[in-house]
Amino acid sequence: SGKDLELARKRVRFDWEGQMEHALDPDKPRTMCPDDPGPCTMCGKYCAISIMSNYLAEGN
Ligand code: SF4
Repeated sequence: SGKDLELARKRVRFDWEGQMEHALDPDKPRTMCPDDPGPCTMCGKYCAISIMSNYLAEGN
């Protein structure tokens, strides 16, 4: 749906606050979200968003 696509775009931009706007219970994830823009720490070096962003930035 349009909402899913909008959320996916916020996710790929690491727009944490934007993602909170779509949360069913925004107060809970706000306590766990990174303060800074960029990937969280959950997947470490395997962050799929960072890997794909770097891949595309290299002109692939
Ligand atoms: S580390 Fe994992 S959970 Fe965190 S932003 Fe990257 S893909 Fe998403």
